[in-house]
Amino acid sequence: MNDRAAAALAWPNRFAGLGPAFYTELPAKGLPDPHWVAWSEACAGLLGLHGPTPEALQVFSGNQLWPGMRPLASVYSGHQFGAWAGQLGDGRALWLGELDTPAGPMEIQLKGAGLTPYSRMGDGRAVLRSSVREFLCSEAMQALGIPTTRALCITGSALPVRRERIETAAVVTRVAPSFIRFGHFEHFSHHGKPAELAALADFVIDHYDPACREAPSPVLAMLREVSERTARLLAHWQSVGFCHGVMNTDNMSILGLTIDYGPFGFLDGFDPGHICNHSDDQGRYAFARQPQVAWWNLHALAQALAPLVGNDLEALKDALSAYPEVFARTMTGLMRAKLGLAEPRDDDAGLIDAWLHLLASEKVDHTIAMRRLGTFSVDGASPAVRDLFRDREAFDAWAGRYAERLRAEGSVDTDRAARMARANPKFVLRNHLAEQAIRQAEAGDFSEVQRLLKVLQHPFDEQPEHDADAGFPPDWAHHLEVSCSS
Ligand code: AMP
Ligand code: MG
Repeated sequence: MNDRAAAALAWPNRFAGLGPAFYTELPAKGLPDPHWVAWSEACAGLLGLHGPTPEALQVFSGNQLWPGMRPLASVYSGHQFGAWAGQLGDGRALWLGELDTPAGPMEIQLKGAGLTPYSRMGDGRAVLRSSVREFLCSEAMQALGIPTTRALCITGSALPVRRERIETAAVVTRVAPSFIRFGHFEHFSHHGKPAELAALADFVIDHYDPACREAPSPVLAMLREVSERTARLLAHWQSVGFCHGVMNTDNMSILGLTIDYGPFGFLDGFDPGHICNHSDDQGRYAFARQPQVAWWNLHALAQALAPLVGNDLEALKDALSAYPEVFARTMTGLMRAKLGLAEPRDDDAGLIDAWLHLLASEKVDHTIAMRRLGTFSVDGASPAVRDLFRDREAFDAWAGRYAERLRAEGSVDTDRAARMARANPKFVLRNHLAEQAIRQAEAGDFSEVQRLLKVLQHPFDEQPEHDADAGFPPDWAHHLEVSCSS
């Protein structure tokens, strides 16, 4: 499809159909004299868009609309760091409309295209640094098979933006079946608007959970779906060592997608207490706490839905009840695959826990250890993994147990290695990789963003020419601090 075809698309906007209580329609404030920073061919392919073209540059920097696009900022509220934060909303994101794709209708949003009525103290802008992080991680998560919003492109500008220092502005175009958050429901509930609350629930049920319509209580059935997909999302995060950093209820997707990439990080050394957000003094969102925080957030959502189910708190609790079990089952399944276990056995959770404890005891590099485990041999020889540990005895004790478990299911080294290479990524977006791409981009060279994107789009492939991206983080990376500012 060329730009003319893109311009001729209908750009339906079902969310706009909810009515003005849900959003404010307003024009974008585009980037002056924009330039391309990055483009995801994979995401463009999904959308059927050709680019990057001069016309697309104007559209995705907020300077021009294709006919039918209706920019709007939605209103939501939420709990931030455990406390009610009141009204928030899209302070710098604009919904443009939807495109039909082979994966269903996809909403397109600009992030960083100017002030909205919900900008509060913010400037409506996003800086190049955080835009590069969001763009790369969105597409990397997709390639890892983790539910996420996607990113189509980044446009940039010389427009100065003040954060801790003066930076420059960028716009990320992100893509998802829906950007509805827990906080959208909380908004209408806490502000005493039951009709809007019901309309929003109906909207989500009709468009994203139609099967729930048949249930005795569609709202409770939807909540059950949300809790189960959130459980699966959290299992994916934990299995790959992803730390979100700002798990406020306004950053929780109703579709169980990873959303709002801010101070996120992938673990280097495996440290359950790792806090990736420099501003999270209490460690509320520390890596190991994430599953519990998501559970807390689901309770906030359930509370918000209470008026729709006659305040039947028992029924709401019951709708959430599958969360711990779905999380545990998904996590065990993912970890089984990562350990190359073909058949489930009773004590698998114990073996997995022991492995994670072993990693934690020496903060061994998570991604490297998991990947190297693929070289393990059932006869017990595993130098590449063993070398990662100082306490060889502790490792040998676990390795003996693992080898016995593998022999018990007749595991064949080569078969297992091939399966494990599809379950344990070689490449994840470590902070120092993002940092290198950002430094070059800030100097006007965007080639590293595009190179890294390509590497991360094939995280399970060997790609030996990119071995440097799969190594231990350099010393300077230990001092990187990622703040909330974006
Ligand atoms: P976050 O923690 O980044 O998800 O953002 C929390 C709230 O602050 C949301 O309502 C955002 O839209 C808003 N926000 C964050 N940064 C800005 C900004 N630079 N300008 C306007 N609003 C912002
Ligand atoms: Mg947010």
